[in-house]
Amino acid sequence: MSDSDASAEPTAGQLRTPIVAVLGHVDHGKTTLLDTIRGSAVTEGEAGAITQHIGSTAVPLDVISEIAGKLVDPEDFDLPGLLFIDTPGHHSFSTLRSRGGALADIAIVVVDVTDGFQPQTIEALDILKRTQTPFVVAANKVDTLPGWNPDDVEPIQSAIDRQSDRVESDLNERLYEIIGELSDEGFSADMYWRVQNFQNNIGVVPLSAMTGEGVPDLLTVLMGLSQRFLKEEMSIDVGGPGAGTVLEVTEERGFGTTLDAIVYDGTVREDDRIVVGGVNEPIVTEVRALLKPKPLSEIRTEKEFDTVEAVAAADGIKIAAPDLDDAMAGAPIRVVRDRDLEEVIEEVQAELAEIEVGTEEEGVTVKADTLGSLEAISGTLEDEEIPIMHAEVGDVAPRDVRMAETADDPKHQAILAFGVDVLEDARRLAEQEDVDIFEDDVIYQLVEDYDEHVTAIEEAQQ
Ligand code: GDP
Repeated sequence: MSDSDASAEPTAGQLRTPIVAVLGHVDHGKTTLLDTIRGSAVTEGEAGAITQHIGSTAVPLDVISEIAGKLVDPEDFDLPGLLFIDTPGHHSFSTLRSRGGALADIAIVVVDVTDGFQPQTIEALDILKRTQTPFVVAANKVDTLPGWNPDDVEPIQSAIDRQSDRVESDLNERLYEIIGELSDEGFSADMYWRVQNFQNNIGVVPLSAMTGEGVPDLLTVLMGLSQRFLKEEMSIDVGGPGAGTVLEVTEERGFGTTLDAIVYDGTVREDDRIVVGGVNEPIVTEVRALLKPKPLSEIRTEKEFDTVEAVAAADGIKIAAPDLDDAMAGAPIRVVRDRDLEEVIEEVQAELAEIEVGTEEEGVTVKADTLGSLEAISGTLEDEEIPIMHAEVGDVAPRDVRMAETADDPKHQAILAFGVDVLEDARRLAEQEDVDIFEDDVIYQLVEDYDEHVTAIEEAQQ
């Protein structure tokens, strides 16, 4: 039994953990920041309390308090901690949904202090504006600035306020540039220690994801923001029938197909009957086991799990159950328990129906990693007037090649694969049957490659 069992059967009316996503331009340090938060949580806290390898990392309040030192007094908080989604980027932010909208309750926008605002920074802000998600800005890589002295122990905050030797005026300038850019995007922002109301003002936290300096401040700001402005939303019936979102569908030795999931409402228990969004229709199955990665200190082989009897929102969990082969990343999960099964199935269907992917008699085949990304690609293809015949979540398999081959127009005998693998036998079959497979993790790149292919075909036909 793992440590997390202690909180497995909570009472109604408890507060759940806020879910945090990390966004920002490529190479600005999103992954490093997540690694550092996870790393310091493991070093500082009891290793057993840290959840890993299931798509999210839970950092309990007492561990945050250890990391943040006197900045976070557990007595001042009644939120249980923070749950970080491990896959950074606005792709995962906008494609992972919960009943109410975005799965994440709060976001960190990482900006490289030297590189400043870049296209994906602005895209991230647009998404956060649209979804009305509160966020803070991590002004990252302060250690790379000329004149930065890593041995100086003066905190960044006082160094900036005093304009001491620790910080060449350069850092100040760059931070104010970021604040100015935020203002151009319609956000009022300031250095985090001057912000009173984090709902109306964006706090900018200077830090180094690499050295870890400033990370305690970031965690403190996230906790403070959550405690003051998310408390109402975090107040749920934790003991009610669970609701969650599939992060990933994975094979696990000894367990078959399993779901890495985030439970954001209620409780999921062993033996619960659940409904999960599937490729063709909702899957009705029963939880066989709820798996948590073993504490890091005990991990001997790469992946080992403890089973828990129940998991309460919000937390990451691996769900083992029969018949999950057709489950889709990004799809909803609902516990039936004492509810009417038909009603729950309808609820799952209704949620899936909100994700619109139009298909036609003739067109290309699309495979994507999540429902949300499938929706995003089909939107782009529609804008480009490229028809879709078949669209599905999952890796490219031989049957997709056979499907694509049935298109009449040679330029439609193509598969656009977004963020998924192409199975070896599918690749062989595609070569044999002259079906073209395009692969990328960036939508416009994928569509551009396909466009070039179409142009080449059209030129050859003339
Ligand atoms: P992502 O694409 O946003 O996830 O960026 P990564 O976390 O992969 O970081 C991109 C590069 O910047 C990597 O080489 C990191 O080691 C480096 N990096 C990230 N954060 C820092 C930092 O605070 N200081 C320094 N010096 N390098 C950093």
